[in-house]
Amino acid sequence: MKKEYCGLFGVYGHPEAARMTYFGLYAMQHRGQESAGIVTWDGEKIREQKGMGLVADVFNERHIGRELKGDIAMGHIRYSTTGASLLRNAQPFLVRHGDLRLAVAHNGNLVNTKTLREELEAQGSIFQTTMDTEVFVHLIIRHLHDNPIEEAVRLACRRIKGAYSMLIMANDKLIAVKDPNGFRPLAIGRLGDNYVLASETCAFDLIEAEYLRPLSPGEMVVIEDGKMHSMQMFEELQPKKQCIFELIYFARPDSYVFGEVVYERRKEMGKVLAREAPVDADLVMPFPDSGNYAAIGYSQESGLPLELAMIRNHYVGRTFIQPTQGMRDFSVRVKLNPVKSMIQGKRIIIVEDSIVRGTTIRTRVKKLRELGAREIHMRVSCPPIKHPCFYGIDFSSKGELIAANHSVEDIARFLGLDSLHYLTIPGLLSAVSRENEYCLACFDGNYPVKVEDSAGKMCLEDNGGRPGIIKEYC
Ligand code: 5GP
Ligand code: MG
Repeated sequence: MKKEYCGLFGVYGHPEAARMTYFGLYAMQHRGQESAGIVTWDGEKIREQKGMGLVADVFNERHIGRELKGDIAMGHIRYSTTGASLLRNAQPFLVRHGDLRLAVAHNGNLVNTKTLREELEAQGSIFQTTMDTEVFVHLIIRHLHDNPIEEAVRLACRRIKGAYSMLIMANDKLIAVKDPNGFRPLAIGRLGDNYVLASETCAFDLIEAEYLRPLSPGEMVVIEDGKMHSMQMFEELQPKKQCIFELIYFARPDSYVFGEVVYERRKEMGKVLAREAPVDADLVMPFPDSGNYAAIGYSQESGLPLELAMIRNHYVGRTFIQPTQGMRDFSVRVKLNPVKSMIQGKRIIIVEDSIVRGTTIRTRVKKLRELGAREIHMRVSCPPIKHPCFYGIDFSSKGELIAANHSVEDIARFLGLDSLHYLTIPGLLSAVSRENEYCLACFDGNYPVKVEDSAGKMCLEDNGGRPGIIKEYC
């Protein structure tokens, strides 16, 4: 079972389609740093370039300016946190079938792929990767014999369950689909006479495209001959279950996601937090960058001064030379360092966007104590994360989630805090525009789509955590 963060970008009919896609992916690099890929179609041939690492490392001017020819392009960035980091699993996933050149890029996580895969294998299908996406491609191809591609995609979508926003290039058609609950974002924009698609609108801003609208849950959009058609793939409408964690942490604050301005929603969460749990202090500070926006809201609502007293090194790459011995917590320290004089003798409110495992936060709090902070209070702009996500965010097993196994008092003690308050679920919902349109499974355990695969169910029970995986949080 894999959980994936991802970013998607597509463009139709642009003379520099690969370059636009490169820029779009570059703007969304926060959605995945493990691998990147671009596929183009020039009317005759499909071309691809994929690689491990950051967008700027995977592509060079030779790829973008010369090799990736064509005026239709789509790209993908991936951040998978389980399984090996394999180039084979990089996307878009490309197959040839007769005259058809098919490329698929997926953001989300399916909850019945194991079942489908076993069924397909029993019928003779052969798989080359461990990706959900390959199962989806097989389903499309099976339906192609009696159907046009749009119908084959629609029938394949009706077999898969879970969270998906996907881009599909089928020769000269560019197709976008979203699952019936609309878990993951995907937006449509316009660039001159052309259509563009992106997970987040910050990608449109960079290429000066105009944002038109988000895709609706269950919608399929087909772009062909420069025109766009849209259809609803499912007869029965399902309730919207958009991922609220996109608004809390994941999306860039300059994006519109699900029709909401991320920056404003985060600030509002901080304001609600200040009303729910006021405390007297000398200053409010975030752990940058993700906590910044809620901290601004908290400061404005409480009237307490905001200080950016934790400084982030923005140039910490994936690999740096580790000290040989004796430097504990090095990876946290290299990234974040407090301004001592701002901390000493102060009563501090730290505004954090979320607590996942609690391990990185604990290290930073300890440092503030060492520097002589008098009181440290933490206010978290989301409710306790108690349940794993099966729809594409990496809260893998219950054992890893500190709030799944401990009370708020225990967590406060573990983190070394004088007080701790998490935003309540009603408080969180009051900070977004339409409160009944979000998935809250990681907070309340109400999973809108049943997890069918046995591996997923085991994940719900698992209490052991996963040793040996080092992740960096910010
Ligand atoms: P913890 O101390 O719980 O291990 O880490 C919490 C920090 O991780 C918070 O500052 C939060 O912004 C960040 N964070 C929350 N969710 C994610 C995630 O899914 N991926 C990454 N890389 N960081 C996250
Ligand atoms: Mg953070």
